[in-house]
Amino acid sequence: MKPDQFDVSNTVVLVSGGSRGIGLAAAVEFVRQGAQVIITGRNEESLRQACATSIEGEHAMDFVTCDVADTDAITACVDSVTEKYGGIDTLINCAGINTRKPAVDFAPEEYDRIMDINLRGAFFMAQAVGKKMIVAGKGNQINIDSLSTLTSLTGVSPYSMSKSGLSNMTRALALEWGKYGVRVNGLAPGFILTDLTKKMWSDPNMQAWNKTVTPLQRLGEVEDLTGTMVFLASPAAAFVTGQILRVDGGASAGINWPINHDFEVTSKD
Ligand code: NAP
Repeated sequence: MKPDQFDVSNTVVLVSGGSRGIGLAAAVEFVRQGAQVIITGRNEESLRQACATSIEGEHAMDFVTCDVADTDAITACVDSVTEKYGGIDTLINCAGINTRKPAVDFAPEEYDRIMDINLRGAFFMAQAVGKKMIVAGKGNQINIDSLSTLTSLTGVSPYSMSKSGLSNMTRALALEWGKYGVRVNGLAPGFILTDLTKKMWSDPNMQAWNKTVTPLQRLGEVEDLTGTMVFLASPAAAFVTGQILRVDGGASAGINWPINHDFEVTSKD
């Protein structure tokens, strides 16, 4: 029988920023698929709770406390996971933050905080795991990008800059590590309802605007992203590297302008 192309069972998956939101949804899905998942984040109690409430799989979810802004913590985390589980097959580089305000109002510390987590932290996490994968001669990494990887959004300039940097990081690492059997891809979510965004999406104006810019006319759920992550980690994506897959309900397809909709479909005949 042909092996399941999407089989990720018994792989070791490290999720940075896995205590809630997109990272936790990814972790839960990989547990469901039979992987050994280790989540990280800064808050030990929320990591513990995430592990306790996650679904049962063949392997229980584990955690390591790790602030990605701290390179020593990254090294310690990656070393301990490698020692305990014998290696890392997939890194989901998901830890990220955002601050929304006009560009003229960002203080240097606020700018640094976003860059230290979203870009510098992602790079040194990728590097620490990449070194192990290169020695193993296999592995894959998935960087969680954003719509602002492709284009910018008002009021989030450092965030947009960090995410477009992340997408170039994906391509750069894919170029360098392909010869070692290590694949690096990105997943760019559209507008997804999580703790990071729920206050913004509680505004009816924002909800109405989302319907105009997202062809599938709804906000994304964290579960909308997890199948693509499994695909990218699986043998089905064995020849896919250096790519940013957009999972955004079509938001990046183009500009939905308010032209007179004379061409609206009125009949299904
Ligand atoms: P979230 O619900 O706020 O979760 C963020 C996660 O990152 C938490 O687990 C958090 O845990 C962790 N984290 C934050 N700073 C960290 C640090 N310094 N070190 C380690 N972990 C850290 O956010 P989300 O919406 O799921 O976003 C996850 C990723 O998806 C981010 O990179 C974000 O930019 C990206 N994204 C989100 C959307 C969206 O619409 N929601 C769209 C596009 C891209 P602790 O706070 O406990 O450390």
